[in-house]
Amino acid sequence: MEKGIIIRGVGGFYEVLTDTQDTVTCRLRGRLRLEGERVLVGDRVLITRTGAGEGVVEELCARKTQLQRPPVANVEQVLVVMAAADPEPDLILLDRILTHAELAGLEAAVIINKSDLTVETAQRLEQIYQPAGYPVIRTSAKAGLGLDAVRERLAGRISTFAGPSGVGKSSLINALEPGYSLQTGEISAKLGRGRHTTRSVSLLRLSSGGLIADTPGFSRLDTVDTELEAVQHLFPEFRPYLGECKFRSCLHRNEPSCAVKDAAAAGKIAASRYEHYLLFLGEVEENQPY
Ligand code: GDP
Ligand code: ZN
Repeated sequence: MEKGIIIRGVGGFYEVLTDTQDTVTCRLRGRLRLEGERVLVGDRVLITRTGAGEGVVEELCARKTQLQRPPVANVEQVLVVMAAADPEPDLILLDRILTHAELAGLEAAVIINKSDLTVETAQRLEQIYQPAGYPVIRTSAKAGLGLDAVRERLAGRISTFAGPSGVGKSSLINALEPGYSLQTGEISAKLGRGRHTTRSVSLLRLSSGGLIADTPGFSRLDTVDTELEAVQHLFPEFRPYLGECKFRSCLHRNEPSCAVKDAAAAGKIAASRYEHYLLFLGEVEENQPY
């Protein structure tokens, strides 16, 4: 048997990219269909070949991660795209996406696209997100800047873009891989089609290595679904201070002698990040059933 990864699924057939970089169109072994296994793009599989470019999926391997939107298995990384301008970056949305990425166990990096328009936004965001532990990459899909740094982050893993519409996600894919020529706005427009969409998600192969979902992730985001005490762990830069507060159960709001609040007041934790922690904590609290 041969190892591969499902990169597309159409009407009961699955396109499998093998470890030898072949694409093989496969159907599922009857046993898998009978077991009602839901196969996802991104699933690692074992196949046998039945003819030229054709084969059968024999086994599904265990998933490491599983996203709802886009419905892709084994995504390892989310690249959150914001524009330096037009539209202005939405830091609440950015932090919300990052908390979802942390909860799902994904690596995350921040891309500031349209950096041909202004450098000030990128500088401001670098000061917030680099100390928080997130790489920040400046790009311009239009001017072709920063693309090698993005290719480097994408190489050898499964990634998805996330971020609001209009920031240049489709343009970035086109700039990274001119052969795909997605229409600008296309990957965003797909979101709007919601349940009427017939095209399902695919993983695009990048010639520099790596796979990226052609549909951006984390659309229609709610508050993270987690425990009140877990929210603090979704902010990596809080970690050095957790356990240093006076009260073990400290949620870093109004409790006395709070190391996190002190760090925020001293500028060691960015003010916006601390504010958004409080915002998300309040939302999680409101969603509690009691
Ligand atoms: P998406 O909705 O995130 O996929 O964004 P699009 O790729 O459709 O881009 C939205 C608009 O921004 C289009 O008009 C693009 O031409 C423009 N755009 C994309 N990248 C850049 C960039 O790096 N610089 C500038 N100035 N405009 C860009
Ligand atoms: Zn505290």
